Amino acid sequence: MSTLVGGIEGGGTKFVCAVGDNEKNIIARTKFLTLSPEETLPKIFDFFDTYQISSMCIGSFGPIDIDKASSTYGYVTNTPKLSWKRFNFLGAMKQRYKVPFVWTTDVNIAAYGEYSLGAGKGYRNVLYVTIGTGVGVGYVHHDILYKGYNHPEAGHLFLHKRKNDDFEGVCPYHNDCIEGLVSGPALEKRTGKEGRLLKQDDPVWNIEAYYLAQTCMDYSLTFSPDLIILGGGVMKQRQLFPLIRSNLKKLVNNYVQFPELNDYIVPTKLGDDSGIIGSLLLARNKLNN
Ligand code: ZN
Repeated sequence: MSTLVGGIEGGGTKFVCAVGDNEKNIIARTKFLTLSPEETLPKIFDFFDTYQISSMCIGSFGPIDIDKASSTYGYVTNTPKLSWKRFNFLGAMKQRYKVPFVWTTDVNIAAYGEYSLGAGKGYRNVLYVTIGTGVGVGYVHHDILYKGYNHPEAGHLFLHKRKNDDFEGVCPYHNDCIEGLVSGPALEKRTGKEGRLLKQDDPVWNIEAYYLAQTCMDYSLTFSPDLIILGGGVMKQRQLFPLIRSNLKKLVNNYVQFPELNDYIVPTKLGDDSGIIGSLLLARNKLNN
């Protein structure tokens, strides 16, 4: 009989819950909107209560507290979603299920999914960036998800503004940080339209690619990953990839030699499933260790 594990991808917009078996198959899954904890938790419980789960992984939107020494370890912390602010998410789950838990960010589970079974398979140092409602980064270094005193928030680094770009950005904390300049909401504020409704040759994609190239350059020079995987809603605009690569080549200006850029800046392979697959793999690892 298969030992079952549970995975949760708790995104800011929607939750995905899944059960996986020994063979890395997803045997059941469900999806619902992220509402308040009081409304969301019963749905999570309803789903998992019908299975005998041996371990679980939660990849949560955040910011979250992942410092085991902290008194608020397991909490969602400074989120703009007020009903989740200072909510002890891990605690509530642990009360219900007496199994070992992995507690990490939503971007980390996606990074781990892509590293293990997606575009990063076969590489040792994989940097995953999601560009959607927000911008987040997960870095897998020799099978370990990198963290320091907390999860790195590399989506909020500052960028050089493009000449004549007077867009003020959308990040409420920093205005024109990466997230403030390239996220889905930034695109929408710049153009008055959702990104998915814009034409493929809209000039805004050049601006977007310029900033994403800077982003990739900063991450490359800092972490020197084997490759950078770009995911999230904005990166469904595949015309961005060649534009980012050509901008990156110019910006780096031959200072360092990157791997062949077509293999270095790549889209996800698991698409919308990166997170839930990564979550199940991490839950499985917890059981094996
Ligand atoms: Zn910011």
